[in-house]
Parts: sequence; C-alpha cells; structure tokens
Amino acid sequence: MNIILLGPPGAGKGTQSQRLVDRRGMRQLSTGDMLRAAVKAQTPIGQRAKAVMDAGELVSDEIVSALISAELEAMDEDTGAIFDGYPRTAVQAAALDEILAKHGRSLDHVIELEVNEDALVERIVGRFSCANCGKGYHDIFERPKVEGVCDVCGATEFKRRPDDNEETVRTRMAEYRAKTAPILPIYDAQGIVSRVDGMADIEAVTDRIEAILS
Ligand code: ADP
Ligand code: ADP
Ligand code: ZN
Repeated sequence: MNIILLGPPGAGKGTQSQRLVDRRGMRQLSTGDMLRAAVKAQTPIGQRAKAVMDAGELVSDEIVSALISAELEAMDEDTGAIFDGYPRTAVQAAALDEILAKHGRSLDHVIELEVNEDALVERIVGRFSCANCGKGYHDIFERPKVEGVCDVCGATEFKRRPDDNEETVRTRMAEYRAKTAPILPIYDAQGIVSRVDGMADIEAVTDRIEAILS
C-alpha cells in the first residue's frame, strides 16, 4: 500500500503518519524530516536548503525527488509507504509517478486532511517533538502524559522547529495554496482522493483514515 497524506502545514500529516507507522508497520517518508536531517548534518543539500526552509519557501523539486527516490530504493518492496509532505508541486507529482513505477509500486490513496486555516497558526506555534525519538507533541492538544517526559522513549529533551513561527507559517500556507493544492485535481481524476476532517481530534482522524485504508 502506498499513500499520500496531503494538507497544509499543521494539518496533522506527521502526527497521523506516526500513528499509521505504529499500527500498520508502514514507513513514513517525510521530505521535511529528510531535509532537517540534512541541515543538521550540514551536507551539501542541507546547506543549500536551510535558508529556503527558514523562509518557508519550497526547496527545489530535484532535491526532494532525489531524496524520496533514494529512500524508496532502500526500502523492502513489501513495506507500504506513507508520503508525508511530498509531492508539493505538479513537477514532484510527476516525478513520484516515475519513481513509483520504477519500483513496481502504485498509489492506492491520497488522503486530504481538510482544516480551517485559522487553526493552523495555533497548531504550528504549539508544536514540539522529542529530541531523542521524534515523537510529536503540542502544548495544548497533545501533551506528554508525564510533564517533561516523552511517552515513547522517556527522554526529557524536546525541540521546536525554527520555521514554526507565525510569520513563516503564513508563507508556508501561501506556498501550499499556490503550488500544492493545485495538484489535487490530478489525483481526483484518478479517483483516489479521500477527504478527511482534520479538525476532528487526533484519534478520530486516525479512525477515519484507518477506515479508508481497510
Ligand atoms: P509541515 O509539515 O509543517 O508542512 P515539512 O516538515 O513538511 O512542514 O516541511 C518543512 C519545510 O521543508 C518546507 O517549508 C519546505 O521548505 C521544505 N520541504 C519539505 N518538503 C518539501 C517538498 N516536498 N518540496 C519542497 N520543499 C519541501
Ligand atoms: P503537519 O505534519 O501536517 O505539519 P503535525 O502532524 O506536525 O502537522 O501537527 C501540527 C501540530 O498540531 C502538532 O503539534 C500536533 O500535535 C497537533 N495536531 C495534529 N493533529 C491534531 C488534531 N487533529 N487536533 C489537534 N492538534 C493536532
Ligand atoms: Zn521520545
């Protein structure tokens, strides 16, 4: 099974991906996570991408498609893929078709998380994650069960993204509207898009996605 989770920044793509990984043994392919790892490791790609990411703009199609291609190459062919934050442009959507075909895979579902834009800034500015295992949290909506301790791994260090501020989020939302939302008709024409109310609580969103996948 190969699926795309689509939605603006803060829609819940990463949160739902992590939950599907835990429940279904699928693999999350997040270009945002891959790029942040490259920035941290100061690779040539990371050095080129950092300023673009900090500004909330899109990194080049060639770079992100190469990252996705390399990840799929290394994956067991029986493991399902969850594309989180990719594709984000029509060029990336076309590249993904080619990459999937090369690996004998095809898209089963595109799940669009529909959210109210007014809620996204609050979601983004409250977002943080475990510095050790990456589990995602929110100051209001998903706090660790024990204050200051990761539910998953027990670590006590957390981190916040430098681009999770109100100004950058506005740019990222505009990028989504201008470049990413227009790719939905491509998948609508294939009859593989399901729309999910991303304003429901986290558990309810997962249940709805599970129902679509089963
Ligand atoms: P969010 O989940 O908040 O939408 P991501 O972690 O997916 O954010 O992406 C963070 C940043 O990384 C983006 O603002 C962009 O600069 C870059 N990025 C991630 N994925 C892509 C992509 N598919 N194409 C271009 N840029 C990307
Ligand atoms: P994305 O990957 O689409 O940018 P995330 O999954 O990282 O979004 O979610 C953004 C923030 O909102 C996180 O802090 C997360 O805990 C929180 N969040 C995600 N889904 C929901 C939801 N359905 N209701 C409330 N908060 C949510
Ligand atoms: Zn952890």
